[in-house]
Amino acid sequence: MASSLVRGKYVVCKVIDDGSSEIIHDGAVFQRDGEIIEVGRYRDLKARHEPDEEIGSADFVVIPGLVNAHHHMGLTPFQLGSPDMALEPGIFARWASRRVDPYLDTLYCALEMIESGITTVMHNQSMARLPSDAGIYESSARMIDAYEDAGMRVAFSLYARDQHLFTYEDDEGFLARLPAELRARVRAGVKTGAVSLDVLLSASAELVANRSSARTRILISPHNVHWCSDAMLLAIKEFAERHTIGIHIHLLETAYQKTFGDRLYGKTSLAHLEELGFLGPEVSCAHGVWLTESDFDILAGTGTMICHNPSSNLRLSSGIAPINRLLARGVTVALGIDEAGINDDNDILQEMRLAQKIHHEPGVGNTGPTSHQLLDMATRNGSKATLFEGETGTLEPGKRADMALVSLKRISEPYLHPDTNVVDALLYRGKGVDVDTVIVDGEVLLRGREFTKVNKAEVASALRDSMAVTDVSASEVHSALNKDLLPHVERWFAGQALPGGSPHYRYNAIG
Ligand SMILES: [Zn+2]
Repeated sequence: MASSLVRGKYVVCKVIDDGSSEIIHDGAVFQRDGEIIEVGRYRDLKARHEPDEEIGSADFVVIPGLVNAHHHMGLTPFQLGSPDMALEPGIFARWASRRVDPYLDTLYCALEMIESGITTVMHNQSMARLPSDAGIYESSARMIDAYEDAGMRVAFSLYARDQHLFTYEDDEGFLARLPAELRARVRAGVKTGAVSLDVLLSASAELVANRSSARTRILISPHNVHWCSDAMLLAIKEFAERHTIGIHIHLLETAYQKTFGDRLYGKTSLAHLEELGFLGPEVSCAHGVWLTESDFDILAGTGTMICHNPSSNLRLSSGIAPINRLLARGVTVALGIDEAGINDDNDILQEMRLAQKIHHEPGVGNTGPTSHQLLDMATRNGSKATLFEGETGTLEPGKRADMALVSLKRISEPYLHPDTNVVDALLYRGKGVDVDTVIVDGEVLLRGREFTKVNKAEVASALRDSMAVTDVSASEVHSALNKDLLPHVERWFAGQALPGGSPHYRYNAIG
């Protein structure tokens, strides 16, 4: 390793409060062996240090590396043949989609993320979607290999479920009402996502023992509250405590999950998790679209985090998470892309912008989260959710040197008012294509939009080739079964009442 002086017209060190960030004009970051030694004025640092190289110029803004705090696989569901639909039937559609090579799919996605300034990702992996011809641990290890080869940090977790696999009723009850022929085919052939708890725990233990590293954290994950028995939730919590690791879980993503949780537990799903002793500052929950007022208090009281995924929630008809209320209560909110942003890509700057605009509630003074709050969500809060807190998320001495250099050329041309705060400029006008250089642990991964460690065109070509030769016979079986089963699943959900009551946001209520 070596030292470098990373220069920008602005260095955004960290967010100070809701309305401001610590910004150094004509600034620089001096790092040695991946550790930030000093942050300050460029000319002062240049006089004091003798770096091995200088990176950047006065054309850039230097920001802490961005964190995608909820993500799954690489090629998007749409690319794999599943257009947007409500989550619950959508899960069936995805079972029918093509399987991918774990290494190539993850590596290509990692490169796309790096290109938009992401240095850390929360990779939450369905065990049911791993290729059945390879072991769970081996496939997971290949994914972690991909992040290592790309140079990214990853918080990797496997997830599984053990109940309510078809609808939100007892599985046998649902199966009993299917036509006999279809029921027999489902029993024989459908991939339900049911994976034994033992397999989840043993594969996760192997990952903790063998694949934890400076850039890799291993977490563990129940899929969602109602999809896991209490016994499974408690075993996962006990496992996390024993190994001192984090937990990531989907929570209250859809309206159906809210009503079902309320009915199943006699309280909200989050209140049930609290009663089990499941929550805590090492737990992050993806979505939280259907949280209640009392849930906000539980999150704030236990230090449990929310990972907000606005594109995903729009695309899967889930709704809009009450982020304004969560921020007002001091809940830690991070930001995720959840497999695919609004443009079916991995541009986190765009996701930050959507997350800012979607929370502009009607009414003068309801401005929604500030650009600084959004930056905090995508940096420091993301670091917290991925268990890299204290190491990344801000540009300060002692932290690891994870940062992105974003070109100000397109953002500020032909004119941008000189009083514009650069964090606002980034949030209002920045896109992934403006990211020029990305650094993790002091190591340059992307420079001038060229990768330094891998050849993206070669990875794309290998991924394309792998999709051409993958055996599709298994997918065809699932596809036919899916086609026949889907109407029954949709009919069940269509018959369920959606929650009543008043929404958190009053977007366009009538009457
Ligand atoms: Zn997800």
